[in-house]
Amino acid sequence: MQPAAVSLSLETPVQYVKGIGPRIAEMLKPKGILTVEDLLHRLPFRYEDRAHPVLFSDLKPGETASVIGQVRGSALLQTARMPIFELTIGQNLQTIKCVWFRGAYLKDKYRPGEWLVAYGRVEASRSGRGLKMIQPQVERLNEASDEPETHQFFQDIGRITPVYETLSGNRLHTRWLRKVMHAVLEGLGDRIPETLPAEMLARLKLPGRARSLHEVHFPPPGTPLGMLQAARTPAQQRMILEELFFLEVGLELKRRKARDQPGIAFATEERVRRALVEVLPFRPTGAQKRALGEIAADMRSPRPMRRLLQGDVGSGKTIVALQAMLIAIENGYQAALMAPTEILATQHYLAVRKLLERATDAGGRAYRAVLLTGSLDPAQKRWNRQRIANGEAELILGTHALIEDQVEFAKLGLVIVDEQHRFGVLQRFRLMHKLGAAEPDLLAMTATPIPRTLALTLYGDLDVSVLDELPPGRTPVVTRQVEDTRSEEVWGFVRREVQRGRQAYVVYPVIEGAREDQPELDFPQEGAENQTEPQRNPRTPRRTAQSGALFGDADSPVKRNGDQERKDLKSATVMYEALRQGPLQGLRLGLLHGRLPADDKEIVMRRFARGEIDVLVATTVIEVGVDVPNASIMVVEHAERFGLAQMHQLRGRVGRGAARSYCILMTGGRVSEVSAERLAAMVRTQDGFELAELDLQLRGPGEFFGTRQSGLPDFRVANLVRDRDLLELAKAEARAFVADPDAASTAEEKAAVWTTLRETWQRRYGLVQAG
Ligand code: ADP
Ligand code: MG
Repeated sequence: MQPAAVSLSLETPVQYVKGIGPRIAEMLKPKGILTVEDLLHRLPFRYEDRAHPVLFSDLKPGETASVIGQVRGSALLQTARMPIFELTIGQNLQTIKCVWFRGAYLKDKYRPGEWLVAYGRVEASRSGRGLKMIQPQVERLNEASDEPETHQFFQDIGRITPVYETLSGNRLHTRWLRKVMHAVLEGLGDRIPETLPAEMLARLKLPGRARSLHEVHFPPPGTPLGMLQAARTPAQQRMILEELFFLEVGLELKRRKARDQPGIAFATEERVRRALVEVLPFRPTGAQKRALGEIAADMRSPRPMRRLLQGDVGSGKTIVALQAMLIAIENGYQAALMAPTEILATQHYLAVRKLLERATDAGGRAYRAVLLTGSLDPAQKRWNRQRIANGEAELILGTHALIEDQVEFAKLGLVIVDEQHRFGVLQRFRLMHKLGAAEPDLLAMTATPIPRTLALTLYGDLDVSVLDELPPGRTPVVTRQVEDTRSEEVWGFVRREVQRGRQAYVVYPVIEGAREDQPELDFPQEGAENQTEPQRNPRTPRRTAQSGALFGDADSPVKRNGDQERKDLKSATVMYEALRQGPLQGLRLGLLHGRLPADDKEIVMRRFARGEIDVLVATTVIEVGVDVPNASIMVVEHAERFGLAQMHQLRGRVGRGAARSYCILMTGGRVSEVSAERLAAMVRTQDGFELAELDLQLRGPGEFFGTRQSGLPDFRVANLVRDRDLLELAKAEARAFVADPDAASTAEEKAAVWTTLRETWQRRYGLVQAG
């Protein structure tokens, strides 16, 4: 019915694989499995040693083991609390019991005489006699099969056996997959083309592709189980390295391509330098000087700048950005800064205006800055767009409104993307493509201390400058965790500090009511490509998911908590009233959240900055960038719901002035184990990198970055936490290969690398390549 297995190749569509066919192929499609190659990249998620079957007599309580046994009998026990299903399995005269709580659905599943493999935790029976296995995973060895040959057990027992994630319902389970994988590998033999140069494999002591694919599925006898589980066997390492290598080669090429494009060679002669010094209200830190030096060197070069400025909260990125903008302006170009929220864009606009108050350009004219955000009124927007188009505006600050189609720049020379991680890769590129003749320079900024491994992956196409020094005079922030049953004390403390002339923030997870889908980001989701009017009326609630945050939120509260608890969730709007009329009566309170009209936001922010508001009740809109040095208290309610990075950013709003500062993390409701760990870390350290590392470990890279937003590819075999060393290695290898592809590979090998690269990037990292 189908082509013989002999003609099988990696590109063969799965429907032609024996035992799959069109119907199952349809089921595999949504899992991203279209070809034999895709199938083979579904690696086992663990392995069991069934080469040495465990005797029941050797089992010990407390261990996790896999045993082979024959079904002897079963019983469904009705207890007062739940039905319990017990299955007795035996080896010769010895038996153990497998136990499932609420296991009624298993009642008729197993028949006496069937052989099974059970994998699970062993415990002593309550009676003290015999052993039981609690909720084991069970695999039947002789279920009805279309091929009755007995040797079919070959893949299942008597060897180190791969265990796969079930792909779809009961049908595509581990045994089925094992059988298919085995057949496919048999069919392919060693007709699996190599993708990596032989010299590289020899040098790294890694096996070829064919052998690796065979061995990751069916490890040879004697492979240490521990190495397999840790993905440390040579075969596994090779598969991981291969995946990372092709990612890194692609990034390296992108980096080079950007370098090869004609860019603008900005001049930085004495006149320009004087303009830069003139705007400095303070002595720059060593790190700021170094970063500006690196930026200026890039800008002088006739190649486009592609640089990331990374610096923890409060490290002083703004002034560096402003100086870069002035270089562009002094050269007759426009500079644009895109921020992720309207509040942040407005804040930048106000800060820039203040810094430039007395400064003049070389021609003795004041610098002309405009703000462009979605919720400006239409006439104002039109007017600002006009000034951007005719070159009247030199510094342009705004939100994603800057990348709307109607916006045209007269002569854009520099693009700065603030809080880079908040934007998708596509948005970054779209702004960059609003260009004149030459590519504008790009400076991306992020306050998120991204662990080095991830920075390598995510920003592999950017050069990096780091502000690793805080401006002088910063005081460490005293951080405390308290339950909200002690809120009276907290409010009392806030009152006392306000009486001493200080200001405070009080932050809530939601704007109003108890709904969680209240986004605070002022740009549409990436992927909403057809959205022509991204800015809705700010008064109508937006329903896009808040997927923009790099670290996302704390583990999903909706899933974690019952309705009861959600009803008790405190919101900024409700608490603003409650505090005003209750514990903070008499103080001057302000309310700030993303749904206020732009003018109101600006007014509230100005008043808080001028000290006319004592306590700012807000949502996470103040998370990034807001800078009021006199504010020395940050109270976060429902702190158990915030992600680590989010809390770190919030805490970064205080400790900016000379006053002793406090961060009070109040919890209300159940604190999960992971939340408790996050809170403890916040109390323990203020080191952003340490917190980011921990976050990465707690959440794993998939959640650490919202994959789509960040453009971080999902890997088939690699795991960025586990495989950091291999990522570094892959990067070094990629760099060497791209620098001189002929150095250590034959023409054929080189061709194989390029072909694989093209296919990989097209299929797997399509988004990243969009730039
Ligand atoms: P970031 O954007 O990196 O979080 P900002 O640029 O907002 O940090 O700077 C934080 C605060 O530190 C601001 O109040 C800024 O004026 C101040 N600041 C920045 N650089 C210096 C410096 N070299 N000396 C003193 N204060 C500085
Ligand atoms: Mg900033």
